[in-house]
Amino acid sequence: MHLYRLSRILFLAALLSSIAGLSSCLQEGKTADSQSPIETAVPVAAENDTTALPAPDSLDLQAAIPAESIQSTAVVVSSIADAETIIARKQVPILCYHQVRDWREKDSKQAKDYIIPEERFKEHIKMLADSGYQTVLPDQLMAYLTTGAPLPEKPVMLTFDDTSLGQYTVAAPELEKYGFKGVFFIMTVSLSRPNYMSKAQVKELSERGHVIGSHTWDHQNVKKYQEQDWVTQIEKPSRQLTEITGKPTEYFAYPFGLWNPEAIPELKQRGMVGAFQLADKRDPQDPLHSIRRIIASGYWSSPSLHRAMVNSF
Ligand SMILES: [Zn+2]
Repeated sequence: MHLYRLSRILFLAALLSSIAGLSSCLQEGKTADSQSPIETAVPVAAENDTTALPAPDSLDLQAAIPAESIQSTAVVVSSIADAETIIARKQVPILCYHQVRDWREKDSKQAKDYIIPEERFKEHIKMLADSGYQTVLPDQLMAYLTTGAPLPEKPVMLTFDDTSLGQYTVAAPELEKYGFKGVFFIMTVSLSRPNYMSKAQVKELSERGHVIGSHTWDHQNVKKYQEQDWVTQIEKPSRQLTEITGKPTEYFAYPFGLWNPEAIPELKQRGMVGAFQLADKRDPQDPLHSIRRIIASGYWSSPSLHRAMVNSF
């Protein structure tokens, strides 16, 4: 991991800890409903000296890292967890959705695992909110995995693959009703095609606080890439997404969930800080580039979803 990147994650960890202190101070007399996930995230009191940190609402980490905090995080670098420690931490449940739209007659039985009817999707999200889950985003997950930074008591990550339009029209507004944020893995070839999101919609999701990640150019299997494929499938899409959002593209979802250890250095070289597969075993050497998710099937009732979350993570 690049030192710069590491500093950002460590800074986030420090920031979360400082918010933890702040939030426990504010706990009395404050109702939960107005708090953002980050503010409510943190039951543990801070040990860090917070004097050098900016206000908790200043989350523009790239621009805002004061020199003092970079110095102090440099001391912490040696305490970044090794792979074994990361694997030993309790996994955060991560759900993967694809199309959010009502079933059509021509949808195959198999396709319906990947297509969740709108009402069912809304039930899933309501169940998560009613059960006390709070969404986390990849930077928070990385801070937790690498430094043990605190997360909400019941964290969940909601991810959306393949760029389909219902993610913008149905899923994002539904998440926002509950103060939730999602991670959208974009396959750039599909941008602005019918029934897919446009660049403007992707930009808007990013501006509304959701995270935009890469899901390659046209969904080819990472295990088959040769030289030039890394440019076509990883480098160019990252550059395009960064142009759209104005933010670095640092998270990746493997098409079909398929990955191999050989792909990991290639992704890291190209700026990917974390990569998400599906439900296979993680890489013992690099769990951050083989993070597990489960597909939240279009067939699942909310209780089925909850059972799968508890059993799989
Ligand atoms: Zn996909």
